Amino acid sequence: MQAGDPVLRQAARPLSVRQITSGEIQELIENMREAMRHAPGVGLAAPQIGISLQLAVIEDREEYHKDVTPQQLAERERRPVAFHAIINPNITSLDEETAEFHEGCLSLPGYSAIVTRSRKVLVECLDERGRPRAIEASGWYARILQHEIDHLQGTLYIDRMKSRTFTSMDNFVRYWKGKPIADVRASLGA
Ligand code: ZN
Repeated sequence: MQAGDPVLRQAARPLSVRQITSGEIQELIENMREAMRHAPGVGLAAPQIGISLQLAVIEDREEYHKDVTPQQLAERERRPVAFHAIINPNITSLDEETAEFHEGCLSLPGYSAIVTRSRKVLVECLDERGRPRAIEASGWYARILQHEIDHLQGTLYIDRMKSRTFTSMDNFVRYWKGKPIADVRASLGA
């Protein structure tokens, strides 16, 4: 679903453990895994495929990091994350420290902007088998969790972005990629 679809602006419905273990939801999780890999993306929330349920899948594969410099990986605290689902998540910030980086979304393809996020979060949720999980995440993984959980509440990154940094991907590559965030903000008066 692309921005403008009402489903992206609704608070999604929670799932019961019985629903999670049903064939229908297990199949949905499998389909979302495929859709995320196909995109490719590091996260996908059910509302993005038109289903208003509190379910998102996340996976940050090492092969996605080959186009990112070691310095950028280090700055972003970006490390591989194995595939998993988060269901009915509750998120709390564990750190007053924030991080600012460009972020994009499969529901707004071709664009990016700087978004301020907590550097460290705690997510309490159910996993793909309906088991309770507490995830402590920092860096890029924490950003992915915040982005996906926002989707489950009807929030998009454009609601949180530094709007003067909003850019097409082409112009991102042409002008901003690899530049320190402080320089980007200074250039744009953001
Ligand atoms: Zn998104």
